[in-house]
Amino acid sequence: MHHFFVSPDQIHRDKIEIVGEDFHHIIDVLRIQNQEKFVICDGDGSDYLCKIGEQISSEKRLTAQILDVYPSESELPYRLVLYQGLAKGKKMDEIIQKGTELGVSDFIPFESQFCVVHLKEAKAIKKKVARWQKIAKSAAQQSKRGRIPQVHLPIFLSKLDKFHGKSLIAYENEKKRSLKEVVQQWEHPVDQINILIGPEGGFAEEEVSTLEKAGAESVSLGKRILRTETAGMALCAQLNYALE
Ligand code: SAM
Repeated sequence: MHHFFVSPDQIHRDKIEIVGEDFHHIIDVLRIQNQEKFVICDGDGSDYLCKIGEQISSEKRLTAQILDVYPSESELPYRLVLYQGLAKGKKMDEIIQKGTELGVSDFIPFESQFCVVHLKEAKAIKKKVARWQKIAKSAAQQSKRGRIPQVHLPIFLSKLDKFHGKSLIAYENEKKRSLKEVVQQWEHPVDQINILIGPEGGFAEEEVSTLEKAGAESVSLGKRILRTETAGMALCAQLNYALE
């Protein structure tokens, strides 16, 4: 069944206003028929089962009649925040797309000591974040998420001094602690999990110890060195396996 996001202000008591590109998508691209059901999501955890109500083609607008409303069942039982070392080229696009499919709710890019990508002028960064946010919305639509993940403005890793919930640093030089051992020791349920993935150049030792002082635990993802765009996805998938 098709699945769209609308902003909450389009949702009224028993109907939803559809305009603009969503009107075009429903009528011209997907050619949804009058009695056909589809799901509209408010991006904040509720899904609305709908069918087409009134259609005013001249104004490219229609109302979707609400048949039922229920909590989005595709969200993880914990908030998953991915702190991602800024990576080169299109890697961030891939990380945001795949991370969205795996249930990430917030992407927080960061610059750290071994980053090859630097936070230069704010304008360029704002443009990148806007593009990444679009990728997150379309990946959320495709994967039928109940929420559109938020892509935050990048931060400097050195500024991170506290976390809410549990925090894991995927550290390539961690030789002792496995993810399994750490997660097994947690008291469940956990409401938020922060994961930190280094850039192509990895984490500096002092960065890891600073993050550990802020309460994060460093874990190994195995004996192989994963690319930065692989590591976050591997960690998300293993957490989903263990906790979802
Ligand atoms: N420059 C590092 C090196 O050559 O050892 C590799 C960094 S790796 C490309 C990028 C990030 O992926 C790391 O900082 C870490 O967060 C994560 N990562 C990759 N392999 C890992 C592993 N086996 N265990 C834990 N984290 C890993």
